[in-house]
Amino acid sequence: MGNKHVALTFDDGPDREVTPAVLNILSKHAVTGSFFLIGRNINSETEAIARDTFERGFEIENHSLNHYYMDKLSPREIRDEIEKNEELLYKITGRRSSFFRPPYLAVSEEMYENIDLCFIGGLHCEDWDERVTAEERADRIIGQAVDGAIILLHDMENNMATAEALDNIIPALKDKGFDFVTVNELFRIKGMEPEERAARHRVFDVVGN
Ligand SMILES: [Zn+2]
Repeated sequence: MGNKHVALTFDDGPDREVTPAVLNILSKHAVTGSFFLIGRNINSETEAIARDTFERGFEIENHSLNHYYMDKLSPREIRDEIEKNEELLYKITGRRSSFFRPPYLAVSEEMYENIDLCFIGGLHCEDWDERVTAEERADRIIGQAVDGAIILLHDMENNMATAEALDNIIPALKDKGFDFVTVNELFRIKGMEPEERAARHRVFDVVGN
């Protein structure tokens, strides 16, 4: 029996406090992760954090320029949201994104037709709600984890409870036999090419099986 794999992913950064805290916890436990950045959040202060994220070997992917409900946008506006963010991310990574996480997980036919990236969602713990404690966040993620799962968390402003939860999530999932990989690695392990999947008009929460 092969190992079980999960991909930790973080949306809505870079943030000047929460992103470095998350990076440090991932490094402390020697695991990788993928960060879905909002272009609007890259500024003179946070750009260095985004660069640090990439230089430390974490993956950077596209979460749109402005984090609108993109299912309400025109095709032209949809393409702008993706392409303008790609330009910002390319300056940091020198590579094109393979994956896109739709803001609010809202999708439409126009989005599928105008965004040439693989759409992913993930298993989450409502960590955008400040009433959900760090302990509840950890319990919910640990309880849901399955092989191939994309785990959706947020390194957004003021969200230190997720960094705290992560410090428990990682050792608990290691104990359950999970290995941690990037989203790109997870697709590769499951024998899938994001380029092929992009044409299939769906949002992945769990990959494979
Ligand atoms: Zn988001």
